[in-house]
Amino acid sequence: MDRPSTTTAHRGRFVHGTCPRCAWIGPGRRALFTAERDAETHAEEHDAPLADPSATTSDPPRSPAG
Ligand SMILES: [Zn+2]
Repeated sequence: MDRPSTTTAHRGRFVHGTCPRCAWIGPGRRALFTAERDAETHAEEHDAPLADPSATTSDPPRSPAG
């Protein structure tokens, strides 16, 4: 399984995960791998199918006698 392509940007002493697909910039991290992980987590949101808000409603509790 390939890792999602990620990009990072160094700003001063910190590195931020960035997204080439939108203008997202992650929080400043002191560790590069942490910034990369932020970017990967963000990228997964792009790849994940958008959930239909109308389909996420939970069913009301059913009657046990039903
Ligand atoms: Zn993005």
